[in-house]
Amino acid sequence: MPKTPVLTPRAQDFPRWYQDLINKAELADNGPVRGTMIIRPYAYGLWERMQSEMDARIKAVGAENAYFPLFIPQSYLTREADHVEGFAPELAVVTHGGGKELDEPVVVRPTSETIVNASFSKWVQSYRDLPLLINQWANVVRWELRPRVFLRTTEFLWQEGHTAHATREDARDFAARVHREVYADFMTGVLGIDVLLGRKTPRERFAGAINTLTLEGMMGDGKALQLGTSHELGTNFAQAFDTRYLAADGRQEYVWQTSWGTTTRMIGGLIMVHGDDDGLRVPPRLAAVQAVVVAIKGDEAVAEVRRIADRLRAAGVRVRVDDRTDTPFGRRAVDWELKGVPVRIEVGPRDLAAGTAVLARRIPGGKESVRIDDLPALLPGILEEDQATLLRQSREHRESRTADVTTVADAIEAATSGGWARIPWSVLGQEGEATLAEQAVSVRCLLAEDGSVPTEDDAPGNVAVVARAY
Ligand code: AMP
Repeated sequence: MPKTPVLTPRAQDFPRWYQDLINKAELADNGPVRGTMIIRPYAYGLWERMQSEMDARIKAVGAENAYFPLFIPQSYLTREADHVEGFAPELAVVTHGGGKELDEPVVVRPTSETIVNASFSKWVQSYRDLPLLINQWANVVRWELRPRVFLRTTEFLWQEGHTAHATREDARDFAARVHREVYADFMTGVLGIDVLLGRKTPRERFAGAINTLTLEGMMGDGKALQLGTSHELGTNFAQAFDTRYLAADGRQEYVWQTSWGTTTRMIGGLIMVHGDDDGLRVPPRLAAVQAVVVAIKGDEAVAEVRRIADRLRAAGVRVRVDDRTDTPFGRRAVDWELKGVPVRIEVGPRDLAAGTAVLARRIPGGKESVRIDDLPALLPGILEEDQATLLRQSREHRESRTADVTTVADAIEAATSGGWARIPWSVLGQEGEATLAEQAVSVRCLLAEDGSVPTEDDAPGNVAVVARAY
């Protein structure tokens, strides 16, 4: 008998599948204020793992963590013209505090370039203080008109890096280094998402930046999701906040800056890249729970799963014990499938007698009986194999749904039928980009001929990657 689907099948209604999965896997609830979300423990565990993996990479490129205030004087935002124009529609502004109207309204941070620069102006005196490399883990607020849980929420969690450098080249190299060594390394190596690394067009650039680098992932429905950005800010904020340094030749110079961010949106991307009709599939290197050891019934099975869990922990596997034998086993199995724990080890009375357990693998699917004594040696290899499978599937999915085209009409056709198109930028150009926008299609990024990130918008050979986006 075919099993009744737990989720709306993806092919039937992708947005509904996404929402179903988030509810049934107990990832998040909507908050009482439109656009806000409550991140439930299992999803927060994924975020904690993302933080820990990212934080190590952020520190490896030399940045240190600090914390800046949530409230920013409104006047700060208006100092950089493009920045305020870009963010004005999304700002939450506090006008009252302590029962009184404030002399100057304060903005709830939508991003921290302005307030960070006010501090950088004090911290930077001479070329010896550069580069200054800071990261912050925080929440931000952007009043989104079309919120979607994880993907575009009014309040989200993120890291934001802010750096100051002596030269334009140094700033450019650092933005590119974060893009590759922090973001791309984490997304391909841990999230198992085969992201494209590219450059934003002027139309899509961050408000106040002279260049924006992006990482774009293809979701299960063929749409694109921007998973991270790394900006070159030039001297725009330095001029607005008078952030200068004394150069070795005795002259006062403005610092060159970068900023870069990734958010809880990555959880949404993870769902839409790796999820299937049975639920989420969590890449093992990310998983807070890599293996769950389930006692089917009886005290002896409970004692055995605890012993197995200890042995697996000693082998370096992140393990959870499921000893809720008062809940029907079938329901628990479905729950772990929904949550996408890579490996499930089931122990029942029959297994105990034989010294075996059932090993169920979420990523390739399938079940087999294995000797309990073999598990600690077996699991690390299985987990690495599953990690590689997810990355490969993500790459194959993107490649199979990307078309090379030479006309704007064909680019729109590809992007509106569930895929991406690559079109020479010399053919598309800013005019073509405007035509795409009328069909809700956008240029996700520009790539150089050899697939690397171009250093100029209009470099010969640039290719535009075009898609519908979240
Ligand atoms: P930005 O500061 O605009 O470059 O954004 C930094 C990162 O935040 C990018 O990777 C965006 O994709 C992501 N992002 C922007 N707005 C939201 C939002 N409302 N919710 C979640 N992530 C967001």
